[in-house]
Amino acid sequence: MPLTLTIDDARWEKHQRDLLDQVPGLVPVAKGNGYGFGLELLADQARRLGLTTIAVGIAQEVDAVRAGGWDGDIVVLNPWRPFDAVATGQLGDPSVIVTVSRPEDLAALARDHAGTRVLVEIETAMHRHGLQPSQVNPADLDALRFEGWTIHLPANGSLSDARTLATAGLAVRTGPIWVSHLSASDYRALHDELDVETHMRVGTRLWLGDKGSYRTTATVLDVHPIKKGQPLGYHQHGAAKDGFILIISGGTAHGVALAAPVPQRTLRQRGVTVAQGILDATGRTLSPYEVGGKKRSFAEPPHMHSSMIFVPGPDPLARVGDEVPVTTRMTTVLTDEIHRA
Ligand SMILES: *Cc1c(COP(=O)(O)O)cnc(C)c1O
Repeated sequence: MPLTLTIDDARWEKHQRDLLDQVPGLVPVAKGNGYGFGLELLADQARRLGLTTIAVGIAQEVDAVRAGGWDGDIVVLNPWRPFDAVATGQLGDPSVIVTVSRPEDLAALARDHAGTRVLVEIETAMHRHGLQPSQVNPADLDALRFEGWTIHLPANGSLSDARTLATAGLAVRTGPIWVSHLSASDYRALHDELDVETHMRVGTRLWLGDKGSYRTTATVLDVHPIKKGQPLGYHQHGAAKDGFILIISGGTAHGVALAAPVPQRTLRQRGVTVAQGILDATGRTLSPYEVGGKKRSFAEPPHMHSSMIFVPGPDPLARVGDEVPVTTRMTTVLTDEIHRA
C-alpha cells in the first residue's frame, strides 16, 4: 500500500553518463533525502558510474554514503565549524575532505589537526559561506593538505564570476578549482582556460535531470461515496458536492503536499498564488494526486501516511488497489519503496 518511486534504471543511468561526458571532473552530490532516491542508492549509483569522489551536505551524512558501499573520497560541503563534534571527529579520516570558509577555522585546523584535507571556500554572490582568498594565511595552508578552492555560485552562475573568483584564489595558492551551478559549456570554458584541475559538483541535474526516468505513484486504499454536506475526516467538514472520497497512500510522513516557497517574481506566479488562495478559501486545496487524468482536491489536510482526496460526480474514476500518479517534490519526498525497472 505504499508510496512508490519507480526508476527506469537504463534511462536514468544513460542521462548520468551523457552528463559525465559533458562535464569532465564532475563530482556527484548526495545529500539530504538523496534527491528522493536516498543517500545509499546514490552512493551505489556513483560507484557504478566509476566515480572516485562524492560530495555530501554535512558530516552526519558521511556514514550513509559508506553504508551504500562508497569507499572513495567524500567531500563535506557544509563548512567545518569547531562546535560540530561529528565533523571534528572526522578530521583524521584520510578519505574525508573538509570545506573551510573562515580564516579562524583554517587557523584552528592548521594548529590542532595538521594534515587535514581541506577545500577553502571563496565567498560568491550567494553570500552564504566563504572568505576572500586574501584573508588566507599561507602558513595555515602549508600545515594542511590543500585540495583546492571551492566556489558555490548562485543558480545559473556566471562564467565571468567563476573566472574572477578562481583567479583570486589561484593568486594566493595554486590548486584545483571546484565549482557548482555553471552550464556545461561555461564549465568547459573555465576548465579549458585554467591550468589546474577542475571539478563541478552536480546534484539536481545529475539525478533529476531526466524527469522521464523516474516516477512516483500512490495506491488507492479505499473509496467511499459521499453526499453534499456530509461531514468527513478528522475535521468533520461537510463535502462540497456529491462525489467520492478516495483514501490514497502518501501523507505528511512522506513529505507529500509540501510546497517550496517560490520567489514571487512574475505576475503569473502571483496569479497562481491568488488562485490557490481562492481554492483554499473555498475549502479546496489542489492535491498532487492525479485521478482520471486530473489533479484532485484534498478533502482535508493530508494525514501521516495517507490523504483523503475528493472526486466529484457519479464515478470515483479509481478502484481500491489502483496506482495513481502523484507529483512529489523530489528534494523533500520520502517514498516507502523504490522499484527499479
Ligand atoms: C547542494 C550543493 C550543490 C549541488 O546543487 P544542485 O543544485 O542540487 O546541483 C553544489 N554545491 C554545493 C556547495 C551544494 O551545497
